[in-house]
Amino acid sequence: MAEQDKKTKSAGDIGDIYEEVHVVNVGGETIHAKRVSGRFRRYKDLVWVFWFSYLILPFLRIGGEQVVLFDIPARQFHFFGATIYPQDIWMLTFALILLAMMLFGITAIAGRIFCGFFCFQTVWTDWFVWIEEKIEGSPLQRRKLDKAPWNSEKITKRGIKYAIWSLISLVTGISFAAYFMDSYELLEDLVTFDAHIAAWVTLLSFFLGTFILAGFMREQVCFWLCPYARIQSVMVDRDSIIPSYDIPRGEPRGRLKKGVDNEQKGDCVDCNQCVAVCPTGVDIRQSALQEGCIMCGLCVDACDKVMEKIDKPKGLIRYASDNEIQGQVQPPLMRRPRVLIYLAISLASILAIVFGLASIPPLEMHVVHERQPLYVKMSDGSIQNSYTIKILNKLPEPLDVKVTVNGVEGANIIGLPDILTLQSAKVIPYTIRIRAKQDDMAAERVPVYFKVEALNDPTINEEHESFFAGPAR
Ligand code: SF4
Ligand code: SF4
Repeated sequence: MAEQDKKTKSAGDIGDIYEEVHVVNVGGETIHAKRVSGRFRRYKDLVWVFWFSYLILPFLRIGGEQVVLFDIPARQFHFFGATIYPQDIWMLTFALILLAMMLFGITAIAGRIFCGFFCFQTVWTDWFVWIEEKIEGSPLQRRKLDKAPWNSEKITKRGIKYAIWSLISLVTGISFAAYFMDSYELLEDLVTFDAHIAAWVTLLSFFLGTFILAGFMREQVCFWLCPYARIQSVMVDRDSIIPSYDIPRGEPRGRLKKGVDNEQKGDCVDCNQCVAVCPTGVDIRQSALQEGCIMCGLCVDACDKVMEKIDKPKGLIRYASDNEIQGQVQPPLMRRPRVLIYLAISLASILAIVFGLASIPPLEMHVVHERQPLYVKMSDGSIQNSYTIKILNKLPEPLDVKVTVNGVEGANIIGLPDILTLQSAKVIPYTIRIRAKQDDMAAERVPVYFKVEALNDPTINEEHESFFAGPAR
């Protein structure tokens, strides 16, 4: 430490690090945070790529098929070549459990890191603020412009900014709507004003939502609207690694001054850079876990730069657990029961989803026995039962199949062609009859087994059990 202190520069050398104008968020006005470069800023920029892919994904096609499509009218979900039907929707339950466990697990390990890096509110706000900075200038200039009267400069700058924000909001809305319908048809329908009312409502909701939430409400959403901020405290503990100010090292804080003894001071030079860069206006030095802190790490970047300038080790603000800051031993992740539980449930959910995807049957058949009447005795003495049969072809192309029945000697199907051509994803109900001799029935009610089988590939088949009823013996 003494060695480091010897290197400490004088106040005159570091005058430019002091940030005089900063605003702590009390909910009343927009925070104009300073943009800082650094490691965590780069991580945030990388996440932009992920969200750009959200915008273009519904417009990508593989073999002419939209790669992601929630086709609600046809009750199908297309996902990179796999088609999921309502019958397979149980996998969605596991997908939701997985997402919840991942969120809980990540929060237990690293706090609200999802908010700081991945949340669409944070990312879209980041884009909007970046555009704002390009048009209106530094945080100081933006604050001045906020207070300035509506002169030609303000009208021009705001006009350009709102136009670009509107464009992004529009693209966001179109992309979201495109997940639920044929994306290219949607574009055509929008241009010709022929789009379905649901498309217009979705588009307008997303347009307004994006414009207002990312453009105007910004960090207020994280503060006042997001429920995650409220529940995070029950998910983090003293071992969670979150942006933390190293109090023992930083205090007593104080500005470096020429001609005075700076040796007694802590490493924090009270420059307020950490507050100036914070998108939610939080002062991390007050306490590590604050409701407004979205754990984006930008204050870490800002403080590291200051430490570099004053020749002190980086990490006065760093991702660290409360235990670590207090000088205690940090237990390894695998010794934290809650992390293990979240991990176990996540792995179980992944396995269930993988199993589900791997075992989606290409054919699905349902057979319903008609109750009224349960059976009919024909003039030749044979017994007839009626059924409604529904077969779903989950393959992307039409399929020729035959349907057979077993269980009663000599039973034959009436009312169904020998070869059925099933169109992809179409279910057509058939009313069929089965006739058999009463003498061939072992009891008044015997099980029968319907089997549907592809003509060109017998491994594609499906069986369904029903019953065949006759008069009491
Ligand atoms: S913690 Fe770092 S960035 Fe914040 S005031 Fe102190 S020295 Fe400046
Ligand atoms: S205090 Fe630091 S980590 Fe928290 S939101 Fe502000 S800049 Fe991000």
